[in-house]
Amino acid sequence: MLETIQVNTPDHTAMVDVTGLVARKVQETGIRNGLCIIYVQHTTAGLTINEGADPAVSDDILNALNRMVPIQGPYRHMEGNSAAHIKAALMGTSLQVIIENGRLLLGTWQHVFLCEFDGPRTRTIRIKLIKDQGES
Ligand code: ZN
Repeated sequence: MLETIQVNTPDHTAMVDVTGLVARKVQETGIRNGLCIIYVQHTTAGLTINEGADPAVSDDILNALNRMVPIQGPYRHMEGNSAAHIKAALMGTSLQVIIENGRLLLGTWQHVFLCEFDGPRTRTIRIKLIKDQGES
């Protein structure tokens, strides 16, 4: 099963909590046990799993990334958004979450985030759901 989520990101740089959107797709398909692969089809946005309870954690991650990867280079890429490409590479483009009893098997504080580094834009997340063998 392949599902799609569209997300309008709010700012140039942002971490958007998409846990609820992903969990809803899992529930809609009725899958009970298996694997959820979450994938972004972009080169200046990424995905990560991290704490979702305190929004200061997302701020700290974004601020640390901004310190590590300055907007101004020197960079060679002519489009002028090399920092966004590098930060997306650091986050990665896909995640795997186990599905157990119809739910994403996340830790207590874990949330799924779309990481925007060159927004605001409409971003596409693809979700591949793979049932365990023997699941009907
Ligand atoms: Zn570029």
